[in-house]
Amino acid sequence: MIRQVVAEDVPAEEKRLRQAVREMQRAIDALVDTSHGLGPGEHRDIIETYQIFAADRGWLGRIHEAVRSGLTAEAAVQKVRDETRSRMMQITEPYLRERLFDLEDLANRLQQILAGQSPGMAAADAPAEFILVAHSMGPAELLDYASRRIKALVLEEGSPTAHVAIVARAFDIPVVGRVAEATQRIDNGDIVIVDGDHGQVLIRPRADIEQGVATTVAARTRRRVYYDSLRDTPAATRDGVVIRLLLNAGLLLDLAQLSATGAEGVGLFRTEIPLLTRHAFPDVADQTEFYRRAYEQVDGRPVVFRTLDIGGDKVLPYLAHAPEENPAMGWRAIRIGLDRPAMLRQQLRALLRAAGGRDLYVKFPMIAEIAELEDARALLDKEVARIAAEGREPARSISIGVMLEVPSLLWQLPALLERIDFLSIGTNDLAQFLFASDRGNPRLAERYDLLSAPMVALFREVIAQCDAARTPLSMCGEMAGNPIEAMVLIGLGFRTLSLTATAVGPVKTMIRSLDAAALGRYLDEIGERPDHSLRRWLEAYARDHAVAL
Ligand code: PEP
Ligand code: MG
Repeated sequence: MIRQVVAEDVPAEEKRLRQAVREMQRAIDALVDTSHGLGPGEHRDIIETYQIFAADRGWLGRIHEAVRSGLTAEAAVQKVRDETRSRMMQITEPYLRERLFDLEDLANRLQQILAGQSPGMAAADAPAEFILVAHSMGPAELLDYASRRIKALVLEEGSPTAHVAIVARAFDIPVVGRVAEATQRIDNGDIVIVDGDHGQVLIRPRADIEQGVATTVAARTRRRVYYDSLRDTPAATRDGVVIRLLLNAGLLLDLAQLSATGAEGVGLFRTEIPLLTRHAFPDVADQTEFYRRAYEQVDGRPVVFRTLDIGGDKVLPYLAHAPEENPAMGWRAIRIGLDRPAMLRQQLRALLRAAGGRDLYVKFPMIAEIAELEDARALLDKEVARIAAEGREPARSISIGVMLEVPSLLWQLPALLERIDFLSIGTNDLAQFLFASDRGNPRLAERYDLLSAPMVALFREVIAQCDAARTPLSMCGEMAGNPIEAMVLIGLGFRTLSLTATAVGPVKTMIRSLDAAALGRYLDEIGERPDHSLRRWLEAYARDHAVAL
C-alpha cells in the first residue's frame, strides 16, 4: 500500500526514483549475467529484452513525468502501472497482452526497491524442489528462483505466449497459466500434476492417474528429442516435395528461434508489435536501429517486414484513434499508412536505411484494391529516391508483397500479381471477412472451419493464378502452424509456410510422413463436398496413410 501520494520535495523524490531505477537496472544486469551461465538460447534474449524494457525511456519517462507533476515515486510507479493495466485490458491478442505484463513485473520490482525490500527475497526462502504457484510472475522473478529446482509453474494469470513461459521453457519447466484461484486451491505440501502441453493442473490426483501421467511424460520427452533432431533435416514430403518453413516473428527475441528451429528465414515480421510497449512513436533513427538489429539477428536469412498493422485490437496509446464500432474493419493497417503518409514513409525510410547492401522484402497489410498498393509503392519510391539523394547505400534488392486478407483482392488477382513480387495469404483476417465471423469472438471460434469447400476453392484459385503469373505464394496465417491444416495447404499446392516457432517441429514431422501428390488426389475427390467441415475426412485420411499429426 502506498502511504504517501503527494511528494513534499519534488527534486528529492526524483533522486529517490533515479536511485531505485539504477538499482533495478543493476539487478536485471545481474540476471543477464546469470543467464549467460546457462549457455545460448532464447531465454537469454528474453532477459536481454527485459534489460531493454528496464531502460525504456518511454516507460521510465512517464514515471518521471508523474513525479515531476508532484507524486511520490511510489505513487508515480503505481499511476503508470495502472495506465499500463488499463491498456492491457483493451488488448485482446494474448501475445500483445503479455508484452505489457513484462512492464508490470518491472513495476513490481521498482516498487519493492522503493519500499526498501530487495526483490528476490522470497526466492531465497524456497525449498530445494517445488511447484511454484503464484498469481502472476515475470521472467526476471522466475530467474530469481533459477538456482532452485522448480518442477513446474502454475499461474492465475499469464498464457503460453508470456515471456515467463518462454523463459520457463528454456529451463524445461512446464507452465500453466489462467488457473483461477490456484493460490487458494493449492496448499503447501499438496501433490500437484502440471501438464504444460495441455494446460491442465491436477490437484491431489489419484494414484492411477499419477501412473498414467508418468507414461505420458516419457512419450513427450521422446517427441521433443525427435523434433530437435529434425532441426537440420529438410522439410521434404515422402514424394520429394520440398516445403520452405519460415517463422512468424514480432520481437527481436523471436529471431533467436531461427537457429533453434532450423527455419529458413522470417516470412512475417509484425513490425507493430514492438511499438505497443512504447510511450511515443519511435523516430526514424530508432526504427532504423531496430531493423538493423533484426537484420543482424537473421544473419543473412531472408526476412519479410510487414508495414505497420496498427488499429483493430492493436491500438497505440499515443496515436489518436476514435472508438470504432467494427475496429477489425476500421481504420487500420495500410489505411492508416496512406492517410498518415509521413508515418508510413518514416517506416519505409528506416527499413531502406537498415537494408543498405542487403535484400529488402516488404509487404503491405490489408490491401483491398490495387490503387492502395500503387499509393503505397509511390511512397516507397519516394523514399528510395531520397536514399539515393542522400548518398546512402541502397538495398541490394527490393521485393514488394501484399497480404491477401481482404476478399475483394480475389477478383483483382491478375492485375495485382503483375505488380508484386510475392503474395502472402493471412487467413486470420481473410477467414473472418470471408465468413463474416469476428476472429476475436470466442462464441464464433468453432462456427466455421477453414477446412471446408469455400476455403479449398479459394486456395485452388489463388494457387492457380500465382502459378500462371509465376508469383511466389506463401501462407502466414495461424493455419500454417496447425499440422492437419498445413497438410491440406501442401496437398493443395502451397510450398512456403510461415509459422510460429513452436509449430516447426510438429509441422515438419507431418511433412516428412506425407505423400503430397496422393493427398492432392484425395482433395480432388472430397474438396467440393458441401459439408460444414472436411476435417473428419482429412483426419481419417491421415490415420489411414500414417501421416503424423
Ligand atoms: C493474418 O491476418 O492472417 C495475419 C497473418 O496477420 P495478423 O494475424 O497479424 O492480423
Ligand atoms: Mg492480418
